[in-house]
Amino acid sequence: MYKVLYIAGDGRSGSTLLNIALGNHDQVLAMGELCNVHRFVLGQENWCSCGLPVSDCDFWQSVEQRLLCRNSTGTSGLQQRFESNRAALLWPWWHYRRQAESFEYRSRLREVLKAVADVSRASLIVDASKLPGRAMALSLMPDVEFYLVHLVRDARALVWSRSKSWKQNLSQGIEADVPARSTSLVCANWCKANLLTTWVRRRISKHRSIRLRYEDFATNPVDSLRRIGQLVQLDFTAVAERLQAGVPLEKGHTGSGNRMRMQEVKLEPDFGWTQNIPQRTEAITWALTGQIMRRYGYQRAVGVAG
Ligand SMILES: [Zn+2]
Repeated sequence: MYKVLYIAGDGRSGSTLLNIALGNHDQVLAMGELCNVHRFVLGQENWCSCGLPVSDCDFWQSVEQRLLCRNSTGTSGLQQRFESNRAALLWPWWHYRRQAESFEYRSRLREVLKAVADVSRASLIVDASKLPGRAMALSLMPDVEFYLVHLVRDARALVWSRSKSWKQNLSQGIEADVPARSTSLVCANWCKANLLTTWVRRRISKHRSIRLRYEDFATNPVDSLRRIGQLVQLDFTAVAERLQAGVPLEKGHTGSGNRMRMQEVKLEPDFGWTQNIPQRTEAITWALTGQIMRRYGYQRAVGVAG
């Protein structure tokens, strides 16, 4: 049985920080975006959060050895099919229609979980892949004890963050070119990711998931980690104290995720967007997302999460 805590929601919502923070508990293995293990990590030139190229990192080399005899051809196609938004919406019909492929997809997912669990002594694996389809698939695997954190962040912060572009730089943790995105596209993706995650939450036991706002985690990590601790039956008090004191965190072996994993990681609440976002952009973003934002407790007054 694999105990998995899945972080779901939109990108740039603070999942890298939350993932690394949780990994500072000695019973937790924080894997970042585990969905990218074949695409960006194993056999690739990516860098691990421990500061080494994956090819020099003992953890990932041990994982790779355990998966060497497996055939990973076609894995990305299977993932695209079964971790898509459509798969999340149409479960279980989606898997029923493609039973053989579904079996193969889940068996490959299980192999990766087994490999990372075998290498570590952790009792809980954190997967910060965020994709709702993957959450749905994991939640229905009989040998996975599944928990979910729906991490949500003010859409205006995401619009500001995604208005900048980045060039691929593997040693700095940027896995591919990141183009600047338009406000409307960011808002559409934000709505889609959060509504689909809400859909998945409704389909699992209410005792197995919580919703967490990035703003609450960043300003009150003690309370946020207490809630997560109650969810997964672990005590994160020591980690929360470390975060609150601004002490840099141990970064573990996150092989894929935000570039932040390659820097010194400590709790530095990022509300810079409230000062910098153009007024018109803020107004458009609120017009497109405000109805859903209110449901999550956000208010129009910039920077206030009520
Ligand atoms: Zn490493």
